[in-house]
Amino acid sequence: MKSKSEILSRIELRQSTLKDWLFCPRMFHLKHIEGIAPNWRNPAALHGTVLHRIIELMHEGHWDLNFDFVYSEIFRLVENETDTPVFWKTDREHELEKLKANALEMIEGYKANYANRECRVILGEAKFRVKVAGYWFTGTIDQLRENADGTIELIDFKTNKQRPTLAFLQNDWQLNLYSYALKYGIVEYKGTYQKLNLLPTYSSWYFLRSHEIRKRKTVNGDVGEQKSEPLIRTQKGIDDLRAFRKDLENMLKVMLKDWVFPNTISCGMCGYVNSCMNRQELKPEILTEAKALLEAV
Ligand code: SF4
Repeated sequence: MKSKSEILSRIELRQSTLKDWLFCPRMFHLKHIEGIAPNWRNPAALHGTVLHRIIELMHEGHWDLNFDFVYSEIFRLVENETDTPVFWKTDREHELEKLKANALEMIEGYKANYANRECRVILGEAKFRVKVAGYWFTGTIDQLRENADGTIELIDFKTNKQRPTLAFLQNDWQLNLYSYALKYGIVEYKGTYQKLNLLPTYSSWYFLRSHEIRKRKTVNGDVGEQKSEPLIRTQKGIDDLRAFRKDLENMLKVMLKDWVFPNTISCGMCGYVNSCMNRQELKPEILTEAKALLEAV
C-alpha cells in the first residue's frame, strides 16, 4: 500500500488530475500513480486542443488566417507531441476532414460573434498556482476577458457534444478551481506570476458547438441558424469559493488513498482499457489455473 505522501510525490495536482479522477478513479491511478501511458488518444481531445490554440491566435490579432490550413498544421503538431497513437475508428483522413469541417463552422461562428471581437482579453492560456486545503494546485486558465460593458468574465472553452445544465456548471470543478485561483492564487500575467485577487463578474463556459449550423429544422430553430447562444454564465461569490474548498478537501481525502474503484460508465472513451482489463489476478479461472500448475510442481 502506498502512503499519502508517496502518492503526493507521484502526482501533480492540476485541474486535469481532478478531471481524470472524476472520469474514473482507476484510470487516475493507472495514469498518475502508476505512470502508465494510455494505449491510445481520442481524436476529439486533440480537436479541442487545436481549437484552443486557434482561439488564442485569433485574439492575438490573427482573425483572418487560412484556418483550413492552420487547423491541419496544428493538428499534425499536436498529434506528434507524443508517441501514443490516435484511435481513428475508420480512416484517418476521412475522420480528420470531418473534424476540420466542424472546427471551421465553429471558428466562423466565433469570428462572427461581435462580443468576441470587441472584448479585451486580459489573460489567455495563463498558468496559475493556488493553495487549496493545504495543497498546491496548478493549471491553465483558458481566458479572462473584459467585455464591452465593463464586466469581467472568466471563460472555459468547451467542445463537448452535450450542452451542460446550469446546475452542472455551478458545481463544475474546473471552473471553480479557476475562480479560486483568480481570487486566492497567483497567475501568469504580463510575464510574471501575480496575485490578482479578482472575483470575475461571470464564470462561464463558452460552448463552441453552439456555433454549429442547423442542418434540419427542429422546435429549437430553423435550417441555417446557429444552434444556440454559446455563453453559459454563472456568478460565483466568496461563499461559493468556500464551499468549493470544502468539497475539494473532502475529495482529496479519497483521492490520496491507495484504493480505487472503476467507473465503468467511462470505459467506452478510455485509453486505459487494456491496462485496466489486465487485472488477471481478479479472474477466478486464472487463479484455478495457477493453483493447478503449482500442485503439479
Ligand atoms: S477501462 Fe473503465 S474502469 Fe478501466 S480505467 Fe478505463 S474507465 Fe476506468
